[in-house]
Amino acid sequence: MKEGITMKDLTMTDKIIKEMMMRTINESQADVTVSVMNDEPFIIITSWNDIDIIMNEFKNQYENIYNLYQKENDITDDQKMFESIVGYDSYGFDDEYMECANCNNAFSNQNYHYATHWTDYENGQVICRHCLENKENKEIRLDYLESLVNNPNSANAFIPPWGLISLGYKQMPDLYESGLHRGMNDDPKKIMKELLGKNPSGKFIFQINNMNPFQISFAVWKKEEDQ
Ligand SMILES: [Zn+2]
Repeated sequence: MKEGITMKDLTMTDKIIKEMMMRTINESQADVTVSVMNDEPFIIITSWNDIDIIMNEFKNQYENIYNLYQKENDITDDQKMFESIVGYDSYGFDDEYMECANCNNAFSNQNYHYATHWTDYENGQVICRHCLENKENKEIRLDYLESLVNNPNSANAFIPPWGLISLGYKQMPDLYESGLHRGMNDDPKKIMKELLGKNPSGKFIFQINNMNPFQISFAVWKKEEDQ
């Protein structure tokens, strides 16, 4: 042991070691995003290789700490050491975790019950459900709805009817159903084609009213003409 660092010091300074690690990550060549989740730093990595790069840089910068930490915690594996320092819940892979371009928080995109985010292809970014549901974010919500306009392959997943009204959309009178039962065979593609046939400059979006494993009921909302 060199430079007067004792094991006792080390166990008392887990927080400081984590800060050193976060600094290494921020300066690292690895393909990582340092985001935020529940007010704590959250690291989004692309592959295990990122962890190897980070740990190599950490070892180069803080060799004493690196060796001592491994000894003290009986760890010989770099990936385990990374996990131990940053925390098991504080990192994830970019196929499961994303960073919202609006609130800059990390979120998991794995949820089978509801849509977690909107991929805004036009601006090459993702916006989380939380931001889309927040009525303060009027511009984002309008952009989101605009991305659905006249697209029979997607439906609004974030904005409730009263939100649509306040954003200038009005519900059309017809209700549609598609599902396993006889007669429930409304096809969004045909519906959209008909609507645009009657009103070529119209802006229409689909809204799902109800969904279960056997059927889906939906409506069309039309953007009101600008006054
Ligand atoms: Zn967000």
